[in-house]
Amino acid sequence: MKELKSITDLTYALSKFPSIGNKTAERMSYALLDMKKEDIDDLIKAIEDVTSKIHNCPICGILTEDEICPICASKTRDHSICIVVSYPKDVLSFEEINNFNGIYHCLMGELSSYHGVNPDDLKINELIERIKKEGIKEIVIATNPSIEGETTALYLSEVLKDMNITISRIGFGLPIGGQLDYADSLTLKRSFENRTRFKKEEN
Ligand SMILES: [Zn+2]
Repeated sequence: MKELKSITDLTYALSKFPSIGNKTAERMSYALLDMKKEDIDDLIKAIEDVTSKIHNCPICGILTEDEICPICASKTRDHSICIVVSYPKDVLSFEEINNFNGIYHCLMGELSSYHGVNPDDLKINELIERIKKEGIKEIVIATNPSIEGETTALYLSEVLKDMNITISRIGFGLPIGGQLDYADSLTLKRSFENRTRFKKEEN
């Protein structure tokens, strides 16, 4: 049978999703042919919406559909304590534990000599500006418990050490080499509560 080019193209596009192999992608392509027209239209619209409406918050980097994310815009959140994460998706883990009412800052990566990621590639200067402008008093570094995450945390604590803020690092209970977004909420809650202090704010 002659190869169906549109199926091949769709299968190739779908196989770019994480954990979707060629076989699964092909099954998905054929399944689409059996779907109702309105379901397909909904799917196309949802993909369009996700790619056109979602962007990084210009202040903290969280993914949002609003001009400024609801956390930065909130008047009821404590803007003096800021959790610093590597990636926007890590914020979801902290929001799920429900006992953090501060704000966030996404570095948009982690230092890595292997991948050629340098301090200038991360949103570190933006963080320093925010500390100065927004009156942030405590920084909780919540980069991943991996070599890159630890390197980033150390670098950050060094860069921020002369600022008059408290700096701590979460870590307790998180497996070395693990990923923040895979940590269960109880582990994450404990790791936040048992954060170790790098430096205390001086008065
Ligand atoms: Zn924000």
